[in-house]
Amino acid sequence: MSEVRTRFAPSPTGFMHVGNLRTALYAWLLARSSGGKFILRIEDTDQARYVANAVDVIYATLKSAGLDHDEGPDKDGGFGPYIQSERKGLYREYAEKLVASGHAYYCFCDKCEDESEDEIHEASALCPCASLDAAVAAEKVASGLPHVIRQRIDRSKVSTFTDAVFGEIQIENKVLDDQILLKRDNMPTYNFANVVDDHLMNITHVVRGSEYLSSTPKYNLLYEAFNWEIPTYVHLPLIMGRDAEGNVSKLSKRHGSVSFENLVAEGYLPEAIVNYIALLGWSPKSDREIFTLPELSEVFKISGLNKSPAVFDYDKLRWMNSEYIKAMPLEKFAACAESFAKLSGTVLADKWEKIAALLHGRTEVLSEIPEKIAFLVEQPEYTVELFNHKKSKSDPENTKSDLPELRARLAGVAEWTPENISAVLSSFAAEKEIKAGRPMWQVRIAVSGCAVTPGGPGEIMEILGKEESLRRIDQALLKF
Ligand code: GLU
Repeated sequence: MSEVRTRFAPSPTGFMHVGNLRTALYAWLLARSSGGKFILRIEDTDQARYVANAVDVIYATLKSAGLDHDEGPDKDGGFGPYIQSERKGLYREYAEKLVASGHAYYCFCDKCEDESEDEIHEASALCPCASLDAAVAAEKVASGLPHVIRQRIDRSKVSTFTDAVFGEIQIENKVLDDQILLKRDNMPTYNFANVVDDHLMNITHVVRGSEYLSSTPKYNLLYEAFNWEIPTYVHLPLIMGRDAEGNVSKLSKRHGSVSFENLVAEGYLPEAIVNYIALLGWSPKSDREIFTLPELSEVFKISGLNKSPAVFDYDKLRWMNSEYIKAMPLEKFAACAESFAKLSGTVLADKWEKIAALLHGRTEVLSEIPEKIAFLVEQPEYTVELFNHKKSKSDPENTKSDLPELRARLAGVAEWTPENISAVLSSFAAEKEIKAGRPMWQVRIAVSGCAVTPGGPGEIMEILGKEESLRRIDQALLKF
């Protein structure tokens, strides 16, 4: 069997939708799991949609996601150029071949000028150019009359093909339009370029979104007209989102972040996003959910792809992200979470390592860090009601009597470590024959003003420093 060659063929839109990233991932996995090649091709034939730096976003995303390509604009494998606009010169010859064999025709209609490549020529079936005498049409072309080249579809037939995910598909040709293959400026449309390029680049498996399923018969007619081998199609199911009311619709911004960049900016780790996306439409056919990329490429099989739409579950992604965070070495977590903490320029900047240690096992998404540690930078307003805690039997009244003594004992601690601070609290509890939780609660509330904090009183006070901790306890005492 010939070598498996898959391609990821994004249009440079300036951002990477999770659906596109999933397409790239599955194409990459298919290549890697079969010892094949993964090719990057930039599909920029629709120049009206040109976005500056968009190609850089594609490179950066693939790199950050760990999806290395074997060939692409920056890595010649002998099938270049890999940017469609740079291949512009080669498509006319193929389009002319189709005209010669009757599978395409010149169209001189005025409206074609402003027609975008995605639009269907409304009167395509009746286009007078379709029945123009070939010699007359050739003459018009030779005289320099602007024209496009359209595919000629035999509408009497029915197209059938097999997709590796969706199975056998049958479409009546009468619903297909005489799509534009080559525009007036010789730029191909996606509909033409994808076929020519996939053939010239020896692509064996075309992995792409299911929105292309209905146009595939038109591509197959082109392959047949050229007498080229049709690749294996692997169309992927839609990705849906669920709104607050439980309604499911195509994933969009109203459901949450939909691009890789935004998810990363929100504090999801690239590894976790990739792992999560891998399971959106593919199943290892076991309960296992955590996979590294190399592990995925060992178990990935086309037969695990599912044709029913996948629902993007942000809660599940959060969970998976927290698992990846916990599994990271502390130093790595500290390094990638530091910019999220926004501590530079504050008194706590040099305490980051200790703060990171508190946050490590308690963070699901990195963007929640500032909120979790805001009390360290500035204590929030709170009332004495917060000293009520059933389990430890703390209340405002006993806090009022315990806190002055606890403050005095803490003031006597020579070496300000979490262990020494905790020792003061537990010996206080032992002496008074009260639950150890009581002074812990009282002091932690007094220094934080929060019912929930990452870390206990010893760890928090070490970070705040002795002076600030005692100052906060003094402030608490003023509340009674
Ligand atoms: N350029 C197309 C897109 O970005 C790719 C379709 C394909 O993979 O054939 O949707």
